[in-house]
Amino acid sequence: MSADPIPPLKTDSPRWSDQLVSAVRRLDDLLDRLGLEPADFDSAGLPLLYNPEFPVFVPESFLDRMEPGNPHDPLLLQVLPLGAETKEVPGFLLDPLEEEAARAVPGLLHKYQGRVLMIAARSCAVNCRYCFRRNYPYQQEPSCLADWEPALDYIRSDNSIHEVILSGGDPLMLTDVRLRELHDLLSEIPHLTRLRIHTRLPIVLPSRVNAELLSLLASSRFSVVVVVHANHPREIIGDCAVGLSRLKQAGLSLLNQSVLLKGINDNIDALVELSERLVQEGVLPYYLHQLDRVKGVSHFEVLPQRGRELIRELRSRLPGYAVPRYVQERPGESAKTVIEFTEEWE
Ligand SMILES: *Cc1c(COP(=O)(O)O)cnc(C)c1O
Ligand code: SF4
Repeated sequence: MSADPIPPLKTDSPRWSDQLVSAVRRLDDLLDRLGLEPADFDSAGLPLLYNPEFPVFVPESFLDRMEPGNPHDPLLLQVLPLGAETKEVPGFLLDPLEEEAARAVPGLLHKYQGRVLMIAARSCAVNCRYCFRRNYPYQQEPSCLADWEPALDYIRSDNSIHEVILSGGDPLMLTDVRLRELHDLLSEIPHLTRLRIHTRLPIVLPSRVNAELLSLLASSRFSVVVVVHANHPREIIGDCAVGLSRLKQAGLSLLNQSVLLKGINDNIDALVELSERLVQEGVLPYYLHQLDRVKGVSHFEVLPQRGRELIRELRSRLPGYAVPRYVQERPGESAKTVIEFTEEWE
């Protein structure tokens, strides 16, 4: 057991909502903060994209973990708009996962047995350039509590559903009050036993792990699983590590999912260290996702053959529980497909 005490929650630390307001939203500001010039990216072979439709959006806390002066910084590359995004590449589509077809009612995806995924919030605390839902029609999804009724009715009327996954966008973008309202409505549905929260906020905006959130989740009647999303070991430091420890201390199960990303975590040392840091904070590596072939993300793709090599190497260097399952989402399948051992591409 780690003997390091977890620092108490500071009441004078900036509120997460204020930190969202002060997040960096302009490419020039992002570069300024890191002491970089556009020319640095040209010479690094990474020409920038100005005024993308999907804007720059990075909270200070995440920015603070980037290395100044490094155009290849693995955290920076996750949020940096590049000219490569505008390249038309065959096979990279607007909705490769056919989520539109799985949309049972507004705000609810029912693809897999026993569990449904609720688009609980329409925004995130960061814009990840490789996002699989970067083209998702969020405007069509619920935005106020009354709008949840069709989704709640759908869950109420199907008692084969035991687990609700709050996703988004990012469900922790809901205020504490909103989240509690939604939680309480769900907890009145007798056949639900588990609540899962898929969120990147504990990683990119650790102040979101506040006392209200911890008390809501710790007192829930559900067994609560929080699935965070970190891709590189340098994300799991400082405030972020403290926030994860607090979630762990509140008695929740903690898992991580990553996306295999070219130039960011497609090297064995980064993956080993990521798993080690996660386990250190009480988070089990759950999934390593093969990149979904969404329009605008082709420059992040790592071929599965390389992914399998990396996973095999990981397996030889780490205990089994620290090796994530290497998976791909394929439309029409009854679960995510483990691709560690398959030899074919599709
Ligand atoms: C990934 C996903 C889930 C959860 O799948 P698990 O394998 O249980 O983690 C559920 N619904 C949808 C639509 C998903 O994409
Ligand atoms: S946090 Fe997740 S949903 Fe939000 S932009 Fe990043 S990858 Fe997309």
